[in-house]
Amino acid sequence: MISIEQAIDEAMRYARTFLPEGKVATYIPELAHGDPGQLGVCLITKDGTVYHDGDWQQEFTIQSISKTICLIFALQTAGYEKVFSKVGVEPTGDAFNSIVKLETKTLHPLNPMINAGAIATASCCMDLEDPFGAFMDLTRRLCGRESIQLNESVYLSEKKSGMRNRSMAYLMQSDNILECDAELALDLYFRMCSVSVTTEDLARYAVVLANDGVDPATGERLVENWIVRIVKTLMVTCGMYDGSGEFAMKVGIPAKSGVGGGIMASVEDRMGIAAFGPALDAKGNSVGAYRVLEYLSQALRLHYFAGK
Ligand code: GLN
Repeated sequence: MISIEQAIDEAMRYARTFLPEGKVATYIPELAHGDPGQLGVCLITKDGTVYHDGDWQQEFTIQSISKTICLIFALQTAGYEKVFSKVGVEPTGDAFNSIVKLETKTLHPLNPMINAGAIATASCCMDLEDPFGAFMDLTRRLCGRESIQLNESVYLSEKKSGMRNRSMAYLMQSDNILECDAELALDLYFRMCSVSVTTEDLARYAVVLANDGVDPATGERLVENWIVRIVKTLMVTCGMYDGSGEFAMKVGIPAKSGVGGGIMASVEDRMGIAAFGPALDAKGNSVGAYRVLEYLSQALRLHYFAGK
């Protein structure tokens, strides 16, 4: 098998050829400043070796990747029963910001990895005195960086322009699904999406998940085993929105994407990988990050069914 360095080098060259196919997200005005030519990757193995290339140090907003941390946070603070009385665990086959099944399928959002599901999940965390402060503490511990901050301008831009999310939240409030007022749940959701990270932060988080919730660098358990299992399962079935089936077939790594251009992927018992590129495909997944992971999966035999 080729070395990790060589696989990364080849993956980056392969992925760059696809960048012109993608477009930067513009529906959140502040995200429109992203540079579609950027591409970066960071890979951290369980033994702590760090590999990186391209724009790996570029900060970007975590966006929907925060939905995995929101779920951990809600399960830790509100518990299994409450969270899964608000949100289901089935893939939707619809876009991440679709509202349609809230009316026609079941009143509850189908899973915590779509916008409606994350808003409902966030609404379960309001018993805490400072929910966002506690969420930030957890995020900093999972990513191993104390200095992680909110990107204030992206947060304000989301809050101002997020009418689609607002309609879902009010619809859910009218059906008694939210545990708090719609605006409170939305504010926490918008803040969670606007946390600023790098590929190194997300690769560190991914290797904690790969190592069953224990930080391999310190030996400290950060997430309970039963929660890690739930989060990684939902990453497999719903982490790439309505592209989750194709991603499972072509790449085969539990992963979560965000419209800021990041994808975080957790290779069981082996490594965490995060890739970043603001140019997105029609489903909202980063074109470049997707292709980096596709290449690495093949070159390093990372697919969960790679065989012997
Ligand atoms: N903040 C974004 C939104 O609410 C998150 C979506 C995403 O990353 N797919 O639309």
